[in-house]
Amino acid sequence: MTDNTATTTKLKNLHVITWGCQMNVYDSARMEDVLRPLGYRPVSQVEHADMVILNTCHIRERATEKVFSELGLLKKIREDRLAQGHERMVIAVAGCVAQAEGAEIIQRAPYVDIVLGPQTYHRLPEMVARAARAGGHVIETDFPVDMKFDFLPTEAAPQTPENLSAFLTIQEGCDKFCSFCVVPYTRGAESSRSVASILSEARQMARHGVRELTLLGQNVNAYHGLDAQGASADLPQLVRALSRIEGIARIRYTTSHPRDVTQSLIDAHRDEAALMPFLHLPVQSGSDRVLKAMNRGHTADEYRDIIRRFRAARPDIAISSDFIVGHPGETDDDFEATLALIRDIGFAQAYTFKYSPRPGTPASAADFQVDEAVKDARLQIVQKLIRAQQDAFNGALVGRDVAVLLTHKGRKPGQVVGRSPYQQPVIIDAPEHMIGRIVTVRILHTLTNSLAGELIRETICA
Ligand code: SAM
Ligand code: SF4
Repeated sequence: MTDNTATTTKLKNLHVITWGCQMNVYDSARMEDVLRPLGYRPVSQVEHADMVILNTCHIRERATEKVFSELGLLKKIREDRLAQGHERMVIAVAGCVAQAEGAEIIQRAPYVDIVLGPQTYHRLPEMVARAARAGGHVIETDFPVDMKFDFLPTEAAPQTPENLSAFLTIQEGCDKFCSFCVVPYTRGAESSRSVASILSEARQMARHGVRELTLLGQNVNAYHGLDAQGASADLPQLVRALSRIEGIARIRYTTSHPRDVTQSLIDAHRDEAALMPFLHLPVQSGSDRVLKAMNRGHTADEYRDIIRRFRAARPDIAISSDFIVGHPGETDDDFEATLALIRDIGFAQAYTFKYSPRPGTPASAADFQVDEAVKDARLQIVQKLIRAQQDAFNGALVGRDVAVLLTHKGRKPGQVVGRSPYQQPVIIDAPEHMIGRIVTVRILHTLTNSLAGELIRETICA
């Protein structure tokens, strides 16, 4: 659908820089949506931008310092543009660092115009107007009770062919307060969108060609949104409703928490064909002592049991996880317990992190911080083990036929890239017009981070 507003408003260039998780990718797309009626259209080069939004992430190490260093670069670009006779570029900082640092950002970087937290981006047009009027700074980092989703434009940007697989945030915030994590402080308390608003956004995405939906939330399986009758619906109920939308062939969700896994979610993996056989279920550690110190609320054996039940329901399910090595107090024995858990489960992939203290979190003030050199050594060991498991998982697919959603052109002419049910990129020779289809591909061999295959059928295997 074309945007008539943009034709009557002066067109301006918007460049959004996104750091961090998929929820930030989703938020950046929605910020582009809310600014579109003001005439802003996305551009890929920051040098051409009338407005830049730096959408930040607080999870990674030295997050705040990286923001200030990037802001220094943006200031320079703004000065160069002014020297070339362009209008003053608006600089906005969004996301979790904006939430955590607030006014500190304006103090250290007074040239920033707008600072907005992750819960307030629906108010961006008003903030842009206020910043222009006052010629000063606008800071919006409260957690409004009204949910931002209720204020977003109902017509989002048309999906491009590359965008056949889209993110949809269904839940935000977290009440779990793991010892190491800033999310409860930056994203606020746990809250879920209503079933109706999610279905309406998903239908619109499907109309624009989206075939694969990834439902997002900090604790996505804690989802408890209200349905049309005012009753609380859980994630499996939502998945069932979404799978009935015409065009939506695949559904994924991330990130889930072991404590919120229910039998009905496990059953949904057995019953719902659209639910992909891939589960990202972070465990962080295999040691009960460390899990307790982390405040994760479950033991290593409880995690093993959850995976056993998923596999009983859906034998081909691929398991992914997050691990932190070197949490305060982690001994050699604790680390060995993590390696034992990894060997027991057999992961298709996993993200591995070295513990890094986050100001304001309990672990950052804990005694017995682990030596950096020990953390480095443990990270290498754990990464090697995960890499071997990932290679084994990918290797086991060679010679097998899998359903692949073709999403975009490959780097070489005649190549098309798609995604397997297990999240791997799969490269095949196929005509471009097949992008958007789900086809049967025989896996021929593994590449470093993807699989090479050949087209077997233009439909999917039963
Ligand atoms: N809600 C999810 C869960 O409970 O598993 C994870 C959300 S967090 C945004 C993503 C991952 O970042 C975590 O699973 C953890 O492994 C890692 N992480 C978070 N804080 C960290 C820290 N202080 N040091 C190292 N890794 C961290
Ligand atoms: Fe952070 Fe996840 Fe723990 Fe919540 S459950 S505090 S988001 S790691």
